[in-house]
Amino acid sequence: MLKKELNIYTFGDLLEHYPHRHIDKTKLSKIGEINLHTEFIQVAGKLVHTEIIGERRAKRLVAQLKDDTGVLELAWFQGINWVQKSLTPGMSYLVFGRTGFFNGRPQIVHPEIEPYVPAQAKGKAFLEPVYPATEKLKARGLNGRQLGKLTYQLLTQIRPEDLPENIPDAIRISLKLMPRYEAIRAIHFPADPAQYQQALHRLKFEELFMAQVRLNLVRIQRHRASKGVVFEKVGDYFNAFYNQYLPFELTGAQKRVLREIRTDTARGHQMNRLLQGDVGSGKTMVALLSMLLAADNSYQSCMMAPTEILAQQHYTGLSELLKEMPVEIALLTGSTKAAERKKILKGLREDTIHFVVGTHAVIEDTVQFKNLGLVIVDEQHRFGVAQRAKLWEKAAVPPHVLVMTATPIPRTLAMTAYGDLDYSVMDELPPGRQPVTTVHRSEMARANVMDFVKTEITKGRQAYFIYPLIEESEKLSYEDLMQGYEQVKSFFPEPAYRISMVHGRQPQEQKDTNMQRFVSGDTQIMVSTTVIEVGVNVPNATVMVIESAEKFGLSQLHQLRGRVGRGSEKSFCILLTGSRASKEARERIKIMCATNDGFRIAEKDLELRGPGDIEGTRQSGALNFKVASIVNDKELLEKARAAAEKLCEEDNELKMAKNLILKAYLQSQPQKNGWGKIS
Ligand code: ADP
Ligand code: MG
Repeated sequence: MLKKELNIYTFGDLLEHYPHRHIDKTKLSKIGEINLHTEFIQVAGKLVHTEIIGERRAKRLVAQLKDDTGVLELAWFQGINWVQKSLTPGMSYLVFGRTGFFNGRPQIVHPEIEPYVPAQAKGKAFLEPVYPATEKLKARGLNGRQLGKLTYQLLTQIRPEDLPENIPDAIRISLKLMPRYEAIRAIHFPADPAQYQQALHRLKFEELFMAQVRLNLVRIQRHRASKGVVFEKVGDYFNAFYNQYLPFELTGAQKRVLREIRTDTARGHQMNRLLQGDVGSGKTMVALLSMLLAADNSYQSCMMAPTEILAQQHYTGLSELLKEMPVEIALLTGSTKAAERKKILKGLREDTIHFVVGTHAVIEDTVQFKNLGLVIVDEQHRFGVAQRAKLWEKAAVPPHVLVMTATPIPRTLAMTAYGDLDYSVMDELPPGRQPVTTVHRSEMARANVMDFVKTEITKGRQAYFIYPLIEESEKLSYEDLMQGYEQVKSFFPEPAYRISMVHGRQPQEQKDTNMQRFVSGDTQIMVSTTVIEVGVNVPNATVMVIESAEKFGLSQLHQLRGRVGRGSEKSFCILLTGSRASKEARERIKIMCATNDGFRIAEKDLELRGPGDIEGTRQSGALNFKVASIVNDKELLEKARAAAEKLCEEDNELKMAKNLILKAYLQSQPQKNGWGKIS
């Protein structure tokens, strides 16, 4: 039962099933005291009635609990039959839960409930742990409190040596952390709130520290052990391009990152670098120069983009930049025709193609390289550990990997989900960029917005209209987009105005043509869904109108906005919303209007959404913390990171006597998904 419901298999698991809160059992409230401000409450009373009511999703078990001051309604939506069987009307029960109001009456949904024994309320523990338990377990008589009793019994039989310390003494003492044995006892049965806080602090640190040690070991061991191809020299390809065809002076940040890449790739160890740069910071040029460096050392490069449009654009852009250079470059995507594909595969096998640009198609098993030395993953920090591992199989010696993020990610996330990578930041935009002015307008102001767009177009500029892509309902998105298109057309009639439209349902050729017409300036307006979200580069576009902006996430809005403000002209982003935006949506829009700084926006995004929702991190396994939170425990994470880094630099095999307890602990723990192993 415990196994199935809570994933508890061993005594150790039971001890690590921490309470989600403690309650003061000596405190019993009256039902009459419940008001709108009450949060959690514990009351005792007689159960007067139980009944299953409602249909389907609204089907629920309701019960009334009565004391001498009033009646409290209890409701269950799950495990209804189980719960009903276990309750006896007429008996007294002790009830705990979060209160709410339903039809004006106080109610607790899914309360914790157990037969009330008056003496029990004066239990000896001041703070009693309450554990997460499921309705099924509760129905079998094993509720959160019973779990507490089990844990209590277990703890009475356990000796300090059963829960040995796992953080090296020097670190534990300098950070004033409670010993492990004490902490585990105290998290369940603290003497007082202060002791509980100390225990929690210790266990949070432990969790973060262990994760950081693992990540650092992976990183350092790869540096020391894993062979990488060596890019010995900067040669003709790089120099010729740099001296003759580079269209602008590199920014300081671009130069710095290139130096980092140069150092990484010359050492003989595999590079695994995450390049974080804000939208428009010029990551593509860094990628190109790195590929030229690979070519100078007789290695092929591959560049992966998240969408066909972007792959296409990179291909066009790079081909243009490299047109005077003796470099063979190919485009490989899902829609590459069979004959063309065959030719490209041959070219890659025989090393007649230097660079291949593409979508995920380029890492399929059928794609084999003669001499792959560098892989660049563009605009996509979603590229996980597993996918990286796949690349390593493409060559006897694994290629260098440079992952470039689509938008900045918060430092805490970079340290956890991507903590096994080396890390570069480009925090400087090319000179001459003007910040994009962002405003929020309601649907009511649409006519004004259209007039504004018209003046920009009259000045020779171009504009985007972006519609949300509703993942669950492709049909709805499509209809919205079509309606939007008609509306835009009515404000901007042909032939004076020309409009491109791009969306996911179009065949590739049509997408390409429409995109190309906008890029070349043949059309002045681009109506599209978020397919143009990342990377698209049309410097003459100065206005972006985002329709139903409340439906977009923060990083998505930032990424979209990055499509304007790419030239020297002043640019604008107009966030249009209906009147019914949620509080959180309004918060997002406020942030967008307040700042252009992607790093700040990323932090805010994490705060608003929590790490679980940040794209691509859920399955990473690196964020499954039990007690720690990368949002609320930033400082502790920094400390854990620093301590782990220092320790791993000094002893990357955990051989020193002082680190043996740590090694023993890590070896005893099951490996989390995709994390490196310790020898
Ligand atoms: P992102 O980092 O978002 O991928 P891009 O690589 O698409 O940004 O670059 C954005 C624009 O800035 C492009 O038009 C590019 O040519 C230009 N750019 C890049 N580096 C520089 C530079 N050092 N000076 C001027 N313009 C630059
Ligand atoms: Mg880019």
